[in-house]
Amino acid sequence: MRTNWAGNLTFGAERVHCPATLDELRAIVAGSRRVKALGSGHSFNAIADTHGDLVELAALPAEIDVDSAAGTVRVAAGVRYAELAAHLHARGLALPNLASLPHISVAGSVATGTHGSGDANGSLATSVTALDLVTSGGDTLSLSRERDGDRFDGAVVSLGALGIATHLTLDVVPAFQVRQTARTALALDDALAHFDALTGAAYSVSLFTDWRVRGFTQVWLKRLDGTPEPDLPWTAAAPGPLHPVPGIDPVHCTPQDGTAGPWYERLPHFRPQFTPSSGAELQSEYLVPRAHGTAAIAAVADLRALLAPVLLTCEVRTIAADRLWLSPAYGHDTVGLHFTWRQDTPAVTAVLGRMEAALAPYGARPHWGKLATTDPATVRGLYPRMADFRALVADLDPDGTFGNAFTRRLLAP
Ligand SMILES: Cc1cc2nc3c(=O)[nH]c(=O)nc-3n(C[C@H](O)[C@H](O)[C@H](O)COP(=O)(O)OP(=O)(O)OC[C@H]3O[C@@H](n4cnc5c(N)ncnc54)[C@H](O)[C@@H]3O)c2cc1C
Repeated sequence: MRTNWAGNLTFGAERVHCPATLDELRAIVAGSRRVKALGSGHSFNAIADTHGDLVELAALPAEIDVDSAAGTVRVAAGVRYAELAAHLHARGLALPNLASLPHISVAGSVATGTHGSGDANGSLATSVTALDLVTSGGDTLSLSRERDGDRFDGAVVSLGALGIATHLTLDVVPAFQVRQTARTALALDDALAHFDALTGAAYSVSLFTDWRVRGFTQVWLKRLDGTPEPDLPWTAAAPGPLHPVPGIDPVHCTPQDGTAGPWYERLPHFRPQFTPSSGAELQSEYLVPRAHGTAAIAAVADLRALLAPVLLTCEVRTIAADRLWLSPAYGHDTVGLHFTWRQDTPAVTAVLGRMEAALAPYGARPHWGKLATTDPATVRGLYPRMADFRALVADLDPDGTFGNAFTRRLLAP
């Protein structure tokens, strides 16, 4: 039986396909009433599930074609960021940002609005300039930022509901070097009072805590080589390398010794050849407008006695605003409040309800690929372009071929 990475979900698909050619993929889609693409399976909820045909793209050619003149790379949808990053770096190129782990597929990450951190860094989907889709009936459709404008903005963070992406074209930038350091002992009051200074202190900043204390136990700073080491007087130097989940060997993590290294060996927290995070876990994340960021953190801190028994680690990150209709950072700079939980679904579900009630006043958008219990009507109300997305789905996939229980509940009129 095929399960997701965390093992908390067994896919209900009657058939699993691994097409080796585009024509095979088109034939599978043409012959299916319900079909869904599976990326690297790192989502924690049923967003990739189907009762029909599940299609893995890993057997398709892993094309990575750089167009230096255009400053882009065209990549097969199933390629993972680890592979793409090494390929780009070898050619003097980079992506502006990466998620906490490089193990995830490009298409699956983009489809859920996956993000890293950094006040000026948009989600990974903001790098997408073009998409090739196999749509219902097995037809192909190319959409580009330049040509399709607003419609393209609707199609990038797709939840897999518009078709199966076969290729994505991404903006690239010149390769760069990053230095990573970690600090500890940030009291909650200091974190709230100096939040902008903290998140602006480096190219990418993450605050971690297990909420057993009233504050953050780790501050990870990823700064561009050539920029000064930030002075954060409310923190202390870390005694050595850290893992965000207490008790796990930091050898799994990217170097935190302040040495300069390639962007893709510093921007993710976890190294590709090791299990990322804990491995035995569940995850949730809520994305709030930056204007409510500190209030939302304070609301979570008020629940720390409830959270701590089920929590492995909580991470706070920042994401720049974008225009992608279903991006959790749509329309405003955003603060992400992430939770890595013990793998105990009933206990986590009980906590989620309380936390969602506490975060409701702040317009908290649940991460599309993580666990949440927020009701679909509330989620719909958090996305100003949701009605337009529903119309786009009706246009491109009138029979709901790429729909599943997750998207049907979300898109219900
Ligand atoms: C340890 C760990 C750490 C994480 N860290 C982060 C983080 O730092 N930031 C963050 O934002 N998220 C993070 N996540 C969540 C993760 O990035 C998302 O769940 C992401 O969707 C995973 O990509 P995937 O390829 O595994 O997608 P999957 O889970 O396989 O699929 C997700 C969705 O994408 C669709 N999809 C996949 N491929 C295609 C395709 N070719 N065409 C159309 N649709 C497709 C699927 O149908 C589904 O709807 C983390 C997850 C784990 C397990």
